[in-house]
Amino acid sequence: MRRISVFGATGSIGESTFDLLMHMGGPAAFHTVALTGGRNATRLATMARALRAEVAVCADDTCLPALRDALAGSGIHAAAGAQAMQDAADRPVDWAMSAIVGAAGLQPGFQVLSQGATLALANKESLVTAGPLMLATAAAKGGRILPVDSEHSAIFQALTGEDISAVERIILTASGGALRDWPLDRLASAKVADALAHPNWSMGARITIDSASMFNKAMEVIETREFFDVAPDQIEVIIHPESLIHSMVGFHDGAIMAHLGAADMRHAIGYALNWPTRAPLPVARLDLANVGRLTFRAPDLARFPALRLAREVMEVRGMAGTVFNAAKEIALDKFISGQIGFMDMAGLVETTLARLSAETSLANAATSLDDVLAMDQLARLRASQST
Ligand code: NDP
Repeated sequence: MRRISVFGATGSIGESTFDLLMHMGGPAAFHTVALTGGRNATRLATMARALRAEVAVCADDTCLPALRDALAGSGIHAAAGAQAMQDAADRPVDWAMSAIVGAAGLQPGFQVLSQGATLALANKESLVTAGPLMLATAAAKGGRILPVDSEHSAIFQALTGEDISAVERIILTASGGALRDWPLDRLASAKVADALAHPNWSMGARITIDSASMFNKAMEVIETREFFDVAPDQIEVIIHPESLIHSMVGFHDGAIMAHLGAADMRHAIGYALNWPTRAPLPVARLDLANVGRLTFRAPDLARFPALRLAREVMEVRGMAGTVFNAAKEIALDKFISGQIGFMDMAGLVETTLARLSAETSLANAATSLDDVLAMDQLARLRASQST
């Protein structure tokens, strides 16, 4: 029986993963090793009981009493805190879902790859922050990364059986987020609630706001560069408000392969769970006659400065992605807490990148996870000090 773990089980991707695991037979089909959450001990315990997990871990150690209570009598080990998270990620698995939000998802993903296991990667921050190191770890240890971001899953599927050298361009589609139709001069006044009203996808709060600012797409551009090893100028972004084409690959002969499907993350998760085969999934089927038409437009870089910053990050490479992600996380915290405005987030990230490139050798590649974590901390500090 396949041994699996889910890191970030209580989030939006985690819930969809849980739903699929239960749909595919739950404890009769999978041996669940570890389920982790941040603070939601009650939900984590319910999932752990349903999947008969070996261990359930909350990252926040103040949640341990609640988790222990909720798991009493189940025989499932309850644990909490940073060391418990690391211990959980060291437990041998065949397949693990990386669905923690933010750079906190980096460490467990590394541990899974270091075991030589398969990592279904939703946590895009991992590849933005430490892409070359993650891929090198996977290659050295016999681990494998399967993309779960819908765009990267789409590209991965479109590339199946193809030679990467025949790829001319990769076209990432973007919904444009909640504020895509706002006049440019109103964007500075956008509030958290405005940015959270995503037109198509139901996701965690942080990625939904990142979609409105297109920091999410900027991260995905960098993720594409790292995962598929294409040149930055081969990656294009196009706004596709219907969110039905999840991305496209253009080949040297002019052909474009597009991946279409309902806006339901269970498709990409299910693909990674069943890979290299396909199995029936409980997702809605597209009725194209009913959809009628698909529309596209070029993104306006004045509205979405994050896309320009992604290009600069790819040019520097080294640890620029680490700084970009850390500064973005601080900028997002500041926007959510009302300290800065919606359009100030990109400015804060740009300032932090400029400061760190003056202070450090940003272009030097990280040689260890410790290098990455040290740069992540420094970037958070500098971003916190900026306004
Ligand atoms: P959510 O905010 O819904 O869930 C995040 C998960 O991480 C929860 O289980 C949360 O626990 C846990 N968590 C939060 N902080 C920490 C921490 N410091 N240490 C350990 N665990 C923590 O996020 P999403 O599911 O939306 O996104 C997860 C990842 O997947 C992100 O990287 C996102 O970019 C990516 N992604 C998401 C998509 C989506 O449709 N949602 C699509 C493509 C990619 P708790 O809730 O218990 O506190």
